[in-house]
Amino acid sequence: MLIDSFDRVVDYLRVSVTERCNFRCNYCMPEKPFSWVPKENLLTFEELFEFIKVAIDEGVNKIRITGGEPLLREGIDQFIKMIYDYKPSIDLAMTTNAFLLKGTARKLKDAGLKRINVSIDTLNPKVAEEIAGKNVLKNVLAGVDEALKVGLKVKVNMVPMKSVNVEEIIDILEYSKQRGISIRFIEYMENTHAKAEIKGLKSPELLELLRKKYNFSDDGFDGSSPSHYYTMDDGYKFGIIEPYEDDFCKQCNRIRLTAEGNLIPCLYFDEALSIAQSIRSDDIKGVKDILKEVIKTKPEKNRWGTDDGESSTRAFYETGG
Ligand code: SAM
Ligand code: SF4
Repeated sequence: MLIDSFDRVVDYLRVSVTERCNFRCNYCMPEKPFSWVPKENLLTFEELFEFIKVAIDEGVNKIRITGGEPLLREGIDQFIKMIYDYKPSIDLAMTTNAFLLKGTARKLKDAGLKRINVSIDTLNPKVAEEIAGKNVLKNVLAGVDEALKVGLKVKVNMVPMKSVNVEEIIDILEYSKQRGISIRFIEYMENTHAKAEIKGLKSPELLELLRKKYNFSDDGFDGSSPSHYYTMDDGYKFGIIEPYEDDFCKQCNRIRLTAEGNLIPCLYFDEALSIAQSIRSDDIKGVKDILKEVIKTKPEKNRWGTDDGESSTRAFYETGG
């Protein structure tokens, strides 16, 4: 079992399989210029899988594939099958922008994927184009329909932003509710890659807005999920991810692996250790030692909002969010 210095059990690994993306969401990526990590620096699926086996053997029981956009990486369904075959009971999930999901949802489900989280920040095609830099909404919504049809569990992620999509918060909640999908609102996290003008909506402002239309109770945190949950009178639950709040990190159970092989103990911290060399030289003991070292260095709290207004330089599209 992996236990950090603050007695938190770490059993959740997020694996970013690529930093590349077919969207340019203005809260996540700059429009240009871009210098992607050279392809030869990326770990192959076989190399990523070598690490995943070690992590599973040490107690990881939940894996989320993310990116960039994970569906851009060819053979992603075979990668999922490798993990599923190694441990079929693993909670295997993916975070995707859903643009390519319509044609792939069935393959992903058959390979062993259980759940997907999809980013839906708007239901207005023009606003979607403003956010993502291209006309994406039709494909995204078709992807969600397909995922539901093949039996994948779906969650929606929305990042509420002032003067962009605040008016749509209720619409997106209703869209999700009608489809039996749960929704999580993610507080916008400032970072140097995002468009400078973006202003996110903090949790109290969001709750005030929702209270105008709904009654709901505060359920607090549920297990190790980073979401603060609320239940509406009709039983529908929604979540808010509030990294600026004091209690956000208390139940943190996750580490992150980037496509280059950097193992990151906390989303905000720039510290990371690379497993690439050990993996490439088949040094499994070395890989285990690095994993344990990263768990040991996991900080008690993230630093969002504590650096006197300075933004993080770590890119969401690199870490996978
Ligand atoms: N491309 C996939 C997607 O968009 O779902 C997966 C990668 S994306 C980096 C993972 C999550 O990070 C998404 O839910 C996205 O909304 C979130 N995200 C990206 N930039 C963010 C920011 N500045 N603040 C809060 N959430 C952010
Ligand atoms: Fe791509 Fe996801 Fe970032 Fe949007 S949020 S640019 S879809 S990685």
